[in-house]
Amino acid sequence: MKVIGPEEIRIDSTLAEEVARRSGENVFLCYQCRKCASGCPSRTFMDSTPTELMRYVQLGMIDEAMKGNTAWFCVSCQTCSTRCPQDIDIAHVIDTLRIIVQEKKIKAETNNIRLFNRIWMIAMKYIGRMYEAGLVGSLNLFTGKPFKDMALGVKMIRKGKIKMIPPIRNPFPTMKMFSRAKGLKK
Ligand code: SF4
Ligand code: SF4
Repeated sequence: MKVIGPEEIRIDSTLAEEVARRSGENVFLCYQCRKCASGCPSRTFMDSTPTELMRYVQLGMIDEAMKGNTAWFCVSCQTCSTRCPQDIDIAHVIDTLRIIVQEKKIKAETNNIRLFNRIWMIAMKYIGRMYEAGLVGSLNLFTGKPFKDMALGVKMIRKGKIKMIPPIRNPFPTMKMFSRAKGLKK
């Protein structure tokens, strides 16, 4: 085994610095206690746990941090942020990573996750809440499988579990919120 001397160890802090600049969160405060991972409801579906994600960001391991599904499978429940003894808002760090991934056009290895995210955001912007039939239908359509889930969808609509017509009420408050957020970004 090759022994690596201290002069050969390099940590690229570019990603951590960008996350800190944009989110105000210092990932170097993380000492890997795993409290975030142990409370995360999505961790069994993630490529890496939130704890591992924090380490990847600390070490500047961009591919590991950004190509896996961890950031995308986070449901922003804030459990990790609440539990962190170092007061790191991990959910905010993850949100920031999602933005960076999209801006840098890094292709996530997870199938269709960005498309899912985009459709979900459009529904939130113009309807103000989730429209399940539209989300699944659009996702299947854009991925070339328009009839996938159709039988199940019809069954669910018949049983009143999901609605065929989007539940549009007053879309203006969420539209206003989106344009305000866009303005803050500039
Ligand atoms: S905010 Fe995301 S990463 Fe944190 S506990 Fe919830 S699902 Fe897991
Ligand atoms: S809870 Fe905080 S300190 Fe502990 S591993 Fe997660 S981010 Fe790091």
